[in-house]
Amino acid sequence: MQISGFRGELIAIDHIDYDATRAVWNGAVDRRPRLIARCSGAADAAAAVCYARDHDLEIAVRGGGHNVAGTAVCDDGIVIDLSAMRAVWVDPVSRTARVQGGALWGDVDHETQAHGLATTGGIVGHTGVGGLTLGGGIGWLMRKHGLTIDNLLAAEVVTAEGSIIRASAYEHPDLFWALRGGGGNFGVVTSFQFALHPLGPDVIAGPVFWAAEDTANVLRFYRDFVADAPDELGNVVRLGTVPPLPAIPEDLHWRPAIAVVSCYAGAIEKGERALEALRGFGSPLIDVVGPTTYVDHQSGMDDTLPHGWHYYWKATNLDAISDEVIDVIVDHMYRANSPRTYAVMFHMEGAVARVPNNATAYAGRDVPHNFSIDTAWLPEQTDEIGAAETEWARAFFSALEPHRAKSVYVNFLDADDNTSRVREAYGDEIYRRLSEVKAKYDPDNMFHHNKNILPG
Ligand SMILES: Cc1cc2nc3c(=O)[nH]c(=O)nc-3n(C[C@H](O)[C@H](O)[C@H](O)COP(=O)(O)OP(=O)(O)OC[C@H]3O[C@@H](n4cnc5c(N)ncnc54)[C@H](O)[C@@H]3O)c2cc1C
Repeated sequence: MQISGFRGELIAIDHIDYDATRAVWNGAVDRRPRLIARCSGAADAAAAVCYARDHDLEIAVRGGGHNVAGTAVCDDGIVIDLSAMRAVWVDPVSRTARVQGGALWGDVDHETQAHGLATTGGIVGHTGVGGLTLGGGIGWLMRKHGLTIDNLLAAEVVTAEGSIIRASAYEHPDLFWALRGGGGNFGVVTSFQFALHPLGPDVIAGPVFWAAEDTANVLRFYRDFVADAPDELGNVVRLGTVPPLPAIPEDLHWRPAIAVVSCYAGAIEKGERALEALRGFGSPLIDVVGPTTYVDHQSGMDDTLPHGWHYYWKATNLDAISDEVIDVIVDHMYRANSPRTYAVMFHMEGAVARVPNNATAYAGRDVPHNFSIDTAWLPEQTDEIGAAETEWARAFFSALEPHRAKSVYVNFLDADDNTSRVREAYGDEIYRRLSEVKAKYDPDNMFHHNKNILPG
């Protein structure tokens, strides 16, 4: 099989690497594309788009392959696979980086931190830059430096017509607006250009764990603690069990617990002061906060969320950590069937909320907390645990329904989150504007294997 103008690798069903290349992070996703076109550059991506259009093939675009819904791979069609395009070029003078569309956040952190620079990225190193950026991008640095998209300066895009164009504030500004939150609906992004900021390389960061029985008290303390937090302080609550990390004594591994994980994007002494009250609260099981490199902190959780486990997520934004929300969390969290299951709550606000809501296509700027119930189990436990765990997550989410914000981060939607939840992610006004841009750049909805925006 050949694609005219394509110089990368073509992987069809009879290729020895077919099963390895069609696998994505979520091992529960098992799709069989007709062809995987592993691109070596933008020209290959353009050739693959033209081939798909001429042969009327379903298209999936793969960045890091991390999306829980598994949209990076489709049945029967073609996967435009960017995983061989992971280069990162840093210009320390202009404090910018150009990043290829298949890079992972670990690649970006590695290269940018070599210059003492960073931009807001995901909190797990093996997450892809492509999907994360196009959905908005939340992480440790967002309260100080904004979402990933607030640091996006330009993107190189292969359109549905197969043209290679640049989108920025000055070139195709409508497309640039839509790319900043609208997901993979508008084309294949073959490179991103980001603004960088001085950081580290040493930061103060890490988790404090308390026993599960302390959950209500910790959450009540936490909601007041973050209300006054400086922009430099990024916090994520992690509920579930203590993960088996090397820095944690074995007798605590898998014990039900709540953790607050922090990262201070500034001077270590100031961070120590900002974290004093949190670390002094109650009787922690263990406090692992300390000076570390930003790169190490960014990859600290990587091994706890490996490729190939089965995952199912249910997410929502929260207007507040109200007493009712705390009651629901305490009631449901520790009834999960799998010790690998967890829930995470990102503290938003800061620089994220200072960007006007319609400046980009990301709609959740006014919510203080982003909550996601993330189930996880081993592939061999699917019969025993899988269905029960999925039902548990749905029941937990239903119990939150009366108390949750009616909005959600698009990148945390799973495969069974239907069209109405995609609309929920954007709200009516941003969805309508996205539909108009979609009608201009992809009127036939060729890029629909994603959280789809219908052409208006
Ligand atoms: C363990 C884990 C941790 C996470 N942590 C965070 C976090 O801290 N912050 C956060 O914001 N999100 C986080 N996420 C969610 C993450 O943003 C999404 O999973 C995102 O889709 C990952 O991007 P990817 O490129 O790996 O996705 P993929 O699965 O490769 O792609 C998902 C979709 O994105 C589109 N896409 C991807 N790359 C491109 C491209 N180059 N051009 C055009 N379209 C593209 C396609 O439509 C594709 O279907 C996390 C996810 C996981 C599983």
